[in-house]
Amino acid sequence: MSRFLHNKYAALTAYTPGEQPQDKQYIKLNTNESPFPPTQAVVLAAGEAAARAHLYCDPDVRLLRRKAAEVFEVGVDNVLAFNGSDEVLYFIFAAFGQQGIAFPDISYGFYPVFAKANGVEAKVIPLTRDLRIDPDDYLDLGMCIVIANPNAPTGICLALDDIERIVASNRSHVVAVDEAYIDFGGDSALPLLKKFDNLLIIRTLSKSHSLAGARIGFGIGAKDIMDDLDLLRCCVNPYNVSAMGQAAALQALQENDLNLKRCRQIARIREHTAQTMKNMGFEVTPSLANFLFAKHSQVTGEALYAGLREKGILVRWFSTPRIRDHIRVTVGSHQQMEMFLSAARDILEDR
Ligand code: PMP
Repeated sequence: MSRFLHNKYAALTAYTPGEQPQDKQYIKLNTNESPFPPTQAVVLAAGEAAARAHLYCDPDVRLLRRKAAEVFEVGVDNVLAFNGSDEVLYFIFAAFGQQGIAFPDISYGFYPVFAKANGVEAKVIPLTRDLRIDPDDYLDLGMCIVIANPNAPTGICLALDDIERIVASNRSHVVAVDEAYIDFGGDSALPLLKKFDNLLIIRTLSKSHSLAGARIGFGIGAKDIMDDLDLLRCCVNPYNVSAMGQAAALQALQENDLNLKRCRQIARIREHTAQTMKNMGFEVTPSLANFLFAKHSQVTGEALYAGLREKGILVRWFSTPRIRDHIRVTVGSHQQMEMFLSAARDILEDR
């Protein structure tokens, strides 16, 4: 830290993203990316935009927002585009955290970092013993709420009725539902937007639409809320979504059916892998996301992570006390999962 840094940042600890190693080729099952690369049409669209990159991109992101509004079945005033959903999450913590923000103890690790970075008081609500969100813990809280649905890293999804109860009992505050993984099996809260003006939904094209590297996320909700988020966006970076990102995302949403079909394919691979892992003695949470969260009584999470890494397979391990026995494994292609299962089998046999 230099002697020039503002005091307010002195105690910050940065979020640690999953490893993106460059030393050798790994089977990457650690950051919930899609095993499918972008289609040729997406690559072409991004390339064509790159040829015009001497000009600024559209700060209003009109073409992409229009298409996103069609896909999400909302008005164009109800959607804003961001540089990944991380960016809109940051703005949510900045904009709506005056009375504090509540979120689960085990969830996306960036939430507490966003709270700290914005000087927002975090009300951290423990998951139940079986790692579920208890909706009753979120009724009438008197502050903004952020919930990932499905939750990460458990993959466990709340039913739409439970989301509705939470939103309905907190009408004076924003309830943000982070649907980063919803296309892999859960029920989206999008239809609830017609009933509730305090519901804010966050989507990303990083996982379901094979665009993690393009950094495209959306905030979806009532126009007033969008106006607040847009105010912050335009005070920070009105050109927040690059021309290449806008073009790639537009094409990916034009191919929405194909992307959703791929998500269903990943969900089938997830179910098959989960069953095989259970047969191997793993305890696996009932995930509806594109990852599995599992532990094994014969080997620690850290040892599994390290053993797999040695065999060229990257998974995610969190040192957080409540979940340090677990590993999180992204659901990749059939072939990738077979390699993961075979490596895990070897590690267990060597015990
Ligand atoms: N929300 C959740 C729950 C996530 O797991 C992630 C991915 N790390 C994000 C949001 C951020 O995704 P992105 O910024 O790539 O849109």
